[in-house]
Amino acid sequence: MRLLTDAEIQQVSGGKSGPPIDVIGRRDYYLRENHSPAYSGSSDPRFQIYMQWAAGYYTAQAHDLAIDKVAKDVAKAIKTSKANLDNQEYSAILYQDSSGYHAGNILPGHNHDTGSHSIQDYGVPPGATIVGFVHNHPTYYDGINNSNRAFADNVDLAATANPFPGPTPVGKEEFRSYIMHDNILDEYDYASVLKNAASYQAPNVARPDIHPDASTTIQ
Ligand SMILES: [Zn+2]
Repeated sequence: MRLLTDAEIQQVSGGKSGPPIDVIGRRDYYLRENHSPAYSGSSDPRFQIYMQWAAGYYTAQAHDLAIDKVAKDVAKAIKTSKANLDNQEYSAILYQDSSGYHAGNILPGHNHDTGSHSIQDYGVPPGATIVGFVHNHPTYYDGINNSNRAFADNVDLAATANPFPGPTPVGKEEFRSYIMHDNILDEYDYASVLKNAASYQAPNVARPDIHPDASTTIQ
């Protein structure tokens, strides 16, 4: 790539003078290095389209990272405070309110085990948006070693595609489902189950064919 002229540097750094130029390079680099308030006022429609795309992209990334962090905190809390997690399922709701992203209470059970709890039991405050759900899949289920519990099952996938409405509805694309097993935290989102929308409503069947979006070792 050639060096920019002084006029071009002035243009990309926010100056108004100089001829229009095309900047060649990776888009995220382009945004980070050349995004100044003056330049973001550019009326170039290509730039406006790009800025719209970038704003959505970075907002979605920040949202995903924030939920991931809270989910990892819950997984670590289950790992360190629940000695019987190999035999008992635990779950927590992740929610967003005006002060950020939080986890509610960690409760025993989920739909596979001791029954369901209300959103109030989970400690979700009024007005919050439910953005995720974490639960562990114990190694032993009803005393039987059930190693394929590492996989999401159809109930998990249905819950991922049809999240709790919560006090404030969440967009399906914003909701995350996490399954903790064997010291791993798997993340699923709507995109990962969408392609199986026709089949995930069937009963409680493990689905090794559906892969998580991300897997993290619980530290
Ligand atoms: Zn499950």
